[in-house]
Amino acid sequence: MTQAPPRPQLAHLTAVLNDLRAKGTHFTLRVLDDQQAPVCHYDGREVINLASNNYLGLANHPKLVEAAVAATYAFGVGSGAVRTIAGTMRIHLELEEKIARFKNVEACVVFQSGFAANAGTVSAILGKEDFILSDELNHASIIDGARLSRATIKVFRHKDAAHCEQLLQELENTPGHKLVITDGVFSMDGDIGPVDKLAALAEKYGAIMMVDDAHASGVLGRNGRGSVDHFGMHGKVDVQVGTLSKAIGALGGYVCGTRDLIDYLYHRARPFLFSTSHPPSVAATCIEAFNILEAEPERIERLWTNTRHFQGELKRLGFNIGGVTTPATETPITPIIIGDGRAAMEFSRALFGEGVMATGIAFPTVPEGKARIRAIVTSEHTLAQLDRALETMERVAKRMGILQ
Ligand SMILES: *Cc1c(COP(=O)(O)O)cnc(C)c1O
Repeated sequence: MTQAPPRPQLAHLTAVLNDLRAKGTHFTLRVLDDQQAPVCHYDGREVINLASNNYLGLANHPKLVEAAVAATYAFGVGSGAVRTIAGTMRIHLELEEKIARFKNVEACVVFQSGFAANAGTVSAILGKEDFILSDELNHASIIDGARLSRATIKVFRHKDAAHCEQLLQELENTPGHKLVITDGVFSMDGDIGPVDKLAALAEKYGAIMMVDDAHASGVLGRNGRGSVDHFGMHGKVDVQVGTLSKAIGALGGYVCGTRDLIDYLYHRARPFLFSTSHPPSVAATCIEAFNILEAEPERIERLWTNTRHFQGELKRLGFNIGGVTTPATETPITPIIIGDGRAAMEFSRALFGEGVMATGIAFPTVPEGKARIRAIVTSEHTLAQLDRALETMERVAKRMGILQ
C-alpha cells in the first residue's frame, strides 16, 4: 500500500519539532531492555543508571514481584470498572487502609497516578471564588489542577514563606477559601519545601494546607513517611499527596487526610469518578512495598549514604550541583547545572555513550539558562558503581570543557 500524501492539518506540530531540533533539545525516548536496576541496558547499551526514581530498588524487589503475581492469579489482571461503579476491590481498600495507618491519618484514597491525585484533588476542593497560593516551582500536576479548579492562582517565590504570607495578607478580607500548596521535595532541584513555615502560615490565616510528597515518600521522615513527618507537622497538613510510582516502585498516587476529605473526593474527584482503578497486582505490590519500608529501614540509610558520597565527590570535582543561582539539593535528586540547553543535552548524550545514564533536562521543564543533568542515586547502587560513574562524568566533562 502506498502512503497517503502529507496533510497540512498538523504541520504546525512538525514546525515545533523542527525548532527543537534546531535548538538541540529535541529528544528520542531511551528504551530499557531489561529491569529498572542500578546497572541495566538502554537501547542495547549497558549503563550505570542514574536516571530512575526507583530510590529504594523496590521496582524489582522479589517480594513485590511475588505479591503482584499472586494477586494476578487470585483476582485477575484488571478491575473492570471505575471505583464508583464496580471497580472497588477489597485489595484497593486494604492498600488505602495501610497507607492511612503508615501516615497516621484517618483515611486515604488511591488514584491512578500521582498526577491524577494532584490534579484531581486540587480541582475538586476549590472553585472559582477561591485562591491557590502555590510555590513557583511546584509540579505540573498541581498547576494543571489549579487551572482546572478555576480558582485564582497566586504564585509565591520559591520556598519564600514571607512572600506567601504577604499574599495571604492581601487576601485577608477577600471571601473564598485559600489553599497553600508546596512540593515536599522539588523534583528538579531536590530541595525540601518549607512545610513547617507554610503550615504555620496556613494555620494563622485559616488556609487549607496541602503538600505533594511525590519525591519525599520513601525518602524523608521515619521509614520514609514523608515531609510532614520530617518536619514533625502531623495534624497540621490537611491534604497530603504521595506517589506510588517512585520510591514505592509501582504506579499510583494517593491522598491522605480526614475521612470527610476522602469521602468528598469519592464524590467529586474526576479521575476517581471517570477513570478505571488499578489492576489488583498494583495494589498488592504497593501493600508489600509499605511492609518493606517498615521492615527494611536500612534501604533508606543506604540511599542517604550513597547520596552523601555521590554529591560530595561531584562538588570536590568542581561540578555545580546547585546552590548558587539555583536551589541547593537536600535529597538524592542531584542536579548538575550546565546552563545552556544544547550543552546539557550533549553532555547527557556523551555520558550515555560512555555508559552512564543521566537525563538532560532543559526548558520548559526547567527555566531557560538553567538546563542540567539530573542524577538520582538509589540505595541499590554500590560505591564502586558510583565511583565509576563519577570517573566517567569527570572525564567527559573535561573533554567537553564543562570542567577545567
Ligand atoms: C512525579 C511527580 C508527580 C507525579 O507522580 P506520578 O505518580 O508519576 O504521576 C507529582 N508531583 C511531583 C512533585 C512529582 O515529582
